[in-house]
Order: sequence, then structure tokens, then C-alpha cells
Amino acid sequence: RVRSVHVGQPKRIAIIGGGLVGALNACFFAQKGFLVDVYEYRADIRSTEKAVGRSINLALSFRGRAALKAVGLEDYVVSEGIPMRARMIHDTNESTHEVPYGIFPDQFIISIDRRRLNEVMLSLAEKYKELVTLHFHHKLIKVDLYSGAMKFVTEDGSTVERSADLVMGCDGAYSAVRQAMMKQSLFDYSQEFIEHGYIELETPPNGCGEYAMPPNFLHIWPRDTFMLIALPNLDHSFTTTLFMPFRKFEELTTEAQVLAFFRDTFPDALKIIGESNLVQSFLSTKPSSLISIKCKPYHVGRTVILGDAAHAMVPFYGQGMNAGFLDCLVFHELMDSLDCDIDLVLPAFTERMLPNSHAIIDLAMYNYIEMRHLVNTWSYYLRKKIDNTLYRLFPGTWVPLYTMVTFSMTPYAECVENRAWQDKVLRRAKWVIGISTIAVGLYWFFPRPTVNDYIVGFKEALNTWFRNVKVDRFYVTAEDPNFGTAGAWY
Ligand code: FAD
Repeated sequence: RVRSVHVGQPKRIAIIGGGLVGALNACFFAQKGFLVDVYEYRADIRSTEKAVGRSINLALSFRGRAALKAVGLEDYVVSEGIPMRARMIHDTNESTHEVPYGIFPDQFIISIDRRRLNEVMLSLAEKYKELVTLHFHHKLIKVDLYSGAMKFVTEDGSTVERSADLVMGCDGAYSAVRQAMMKQSLFDYSQEFIEHGYIELETPPNGCGEYAMPPNFLHIWPRDTFMLIALPNLDHSFTTTLFMPFRKFEELTTEAQVLAFFRDTFPDALKIIGESNLVQSFLSTKPSSLISIKCKPYHVGRTVILGDAAHAMVPFYGQGMNAGFLDCLVFHELMDSLDCDIDLVLPAFTERMLPNSHAIIDLAMYNYIEMRHLVNTWSYYLRKKIDNTLYRLFPGTWVPLYTMVTFSMTPYAECVENRAWQDKVLRRAKWVIGISTIAVGLYWFFPRPTVNDYIVGFKEALNTWFRNVKVDRFYVTAEDPNFGTAGAWY
């Protein structure tokens, strides 16, 4: 049922982008009874052969699940995914070991088919027939941030003009809505392309139609400056992604070079991907770039940006979509608590999300090094052991960073602060342990005195002191420089 609105509340909402965040946002607004128009530049993915776009599957975690739960989709989406309980690290000698994501049974992430997830959310939004209209092949080319007037190019090249009371830019990392905001004064923006690009390679099921590797893991082949990862799919295949510096991709241009590189660095992966499959996919794909974007604020006039449009990040914490879903959840919580008054909701949204989004962007960059390099170092495992032991002992106080980010709703900025506090505690503990070890070492190294030794020593010291007291001090004469004339009186 269409809700009746009063002053300050929007009636018609325009969502730009029908990707993951836009589709979920449409579900939230429809369930609140708003009139929603979703404008998506591409065709309806539910009717296209192959979805064009990034990454075939994604890791869904706690924050994303919480948002899906709020629209009633969590159970269904989770049932269509594959739990991943640990990282499985593949060494160059083809041995493997597991690094669990958490210490409790419910601490796992879920491999989800991106296209399927998008389809499910679009279909849910569309169920609210009288409220939601999906407009595919509508590319936003112009928006007035204050009046909500918009201009789109459609499939046949014609333009259409529309307007809305609230415009929500969910149009991804290269957002047209954000570009309009960037023309405003006091709007800050920065972007960073990392030197690594990525290509996706399909790892088919084995000869018996089964998974070629254990499915309940996120497989990683960390090689310090580059890495390969694989996430399981429901059809028993894996989506395998190679992250590598662009200059390295440029060195691999022939079949022989690609095969030699894989034989050398990922021998076990090569066996399951298959030589001809690998060469065909590798040489026919151009690596995609990875961008990280920070901007401020997230709203101008009656327009707001969410998801990658507001905070694109490198994919190494598996939080891009989760953070985008969290945006939707928080936005609608604010709508509820602030009586849907967008003059209050938009600034409150910026204030609440900005430090947190910036924090997860930085954390994602940090994990870029952890995944390809740190998991190869002993200090990483030592820290993990310490963190997990303290977590078991003090679960309310000491929560490891990855657990906080992935399995809790702790604001991202607070996760970073907690980690800084933990680092400080461990640094101090290191000093205390170091000094105590030296003291104990010295104690054991030198002959240990008994209580009796102390008494004898004390007596001897006293004796020596007595003997050193000069007798002539008692017979002070007038010549004694310390006594001067007063001494003469004695
Ligand atoms: P998008 O998914 O980019 O959707 C934007 C939509 O807007 C698109 O449909 C586009 O067609 C449309 N659009 C764009 N411009 C216009 C316009 N002018 N007019 C109309 N429509 C427009 N995140 C995770 O949480 N877990 C993961 O495991 C994970 N893995 C990833 C792996 C890789 C390799 C990459 C690149 C990303 C990964 N992410 C992951 C991040 C995740 O993909 C993004 O954060 C998520 O897709 C953001 O959703 P979005 O809706 O904001 O943007």
C-alpha cells in the first residue's frame, strides 16, 4: 500500500542503478510503502544470457546478512550459498593447510552467486507491483541534486526526463550521481588504482562431476606479490581469480609463457583448471583494474550515494557488497528513527557512515597485503594464535580484527580502534615479558644467594663500614677545615 506522506517526507524515490545495492534498497523502500523507480543502465539480468560485470561470486558475511534479514531474504540467500569456514592455503610444493575464519561454529562466510543474488532481490522488489517500477536500459546522464530532476538515455538513444523527491545513487564505483556531486564546492574526493589487476578463470568440476577441491573453503595461493584465490559455486565449479601486477600480466602473452608460469607458481591449480582451459581463458581476457574511492559527504541537496558509489574498495576484505548492504540497513534505520524526514536523515547518514566507510576502505587495502604475503609469515600465525587464545579467554573484551569486521556489527571505525588498542597491549606485554625474561635469566645464571647468605653479607657490610669509620674524626682540631673555628671550641 502506498504510504501517505507529510512535509519533509519523500513520496517518490528514484534509485539509480539496479545492481546489488540498488536492488536491495528498492526492497527496503517498497516494504515501507514508498513509490520507487529503479533506473538501471543495463538490460534486466534475469533475461540476459550472461551477466556482464564484475566477479561471478562473492563472500557474504554478517553485515550483509543482517541487511538481507531485514527484508526477509536472509534464509533464502544463505540456503543458496556455500559456507566457507576457513582459508585453505596452497603452497608451491602443493601442500595445503587451513586457517579457520573463526573459533565458533557460526563463524563462516558464504560464497554467493552475484547474478543469482541480484536476480532474487530484483524479483522481490518487483513483487510490490503498485509501488516499484524497474526501468532497464536507462542510463542517467544528468541530475539536479537539489530539485531531483533527472535525464536518462534509453536503449534506442532517445532521452527521457524524470523527477523524484529523493534520488539515491547506487550506480557503482563510476557513479554518475557522484560525478554530479563532485561539481559542488566542499565535496571531497580521492581515488586510488592499485597496481594489481585481476582476471577470473573457471575451475570446472572433476571427472566425476564433483568439486575438484574441498568446497567449504576460500582457497588461496599466496605468492607475496601476487595471488590466486578460488570460491566454490553450487554447480561444483570454482571461480578462480588471479590478482597480479599489470606489468606481470603483460609479460604473459603466449601459451608457453602462461603454462610455464602456472607450472612454476600454481602447479596444483593448473592440474584442476586444465591446461587448455587455462590458456584459452587467460589469453582471451584482459585484466580488470581495482579502484579504491573515498569521498565526503554522501549527500547533497535531496540526493545521496550508497554502496560503491560512495565507497568503492579493493575486494580483499570481502566487504564491498556487505558494506553497501549495511548502508541500506542504516539508511532505513535512520528513516524509521527520524520520521522519514530526509532533511534530517541525509546528514545523519553521512555522519554515521563516513568514518566507518573510510575505515573499511583502509582495512581492505591492508588485507591486500595480508592475503598475498602475510599468510606466508610465521609472525602472522603467532599473532593469530595469541588473538584466538585471548578471544577464547575474554570473548567480550578481546575480539580479533577479522572476527569483528566479518562476524559482528561493530562499526568499522571501532574495529580499527580496537585493533590499535590490542596492538598497544601486546607491545607493552612484549616489553614486560622481555624484561622479566632477562631478570629471570640473570637470576638463574648467577649463583643464587640464600637468606643466610644475605644475613652474613649484611653483617660483613656493617663490619666493614664500622672498620672504615676513622677514629680521629672524634678528635677534631682547630686545623680541621670542616669545623673551622667552631672546632676549636671542642
Ligand atoms: P554495482 O554492483 O557496481 O552496481 C551498480 C549498478 O549501477 C550496475 O548495475 C550498473 O549497471 C548501474 N549503473 C552504473 N551507472 C549507471 C547510470 N549512469 N545509470 C543507471 N545505472 C547505472 N564484496 C563483498 O562483499 N564480498 C566479496 O567477496 C566481494 N568480492 C569482489 C570481488 C571482485 C573481483 C570485485 C571487483 C568486487 C568484489 N566485491 C565484493 C565488491 C562488490 O562487488 C561491490 O561492492 C558491489 O558490487 C557494490 O554494489 P553496488 O550496487 O554499489 O555497485
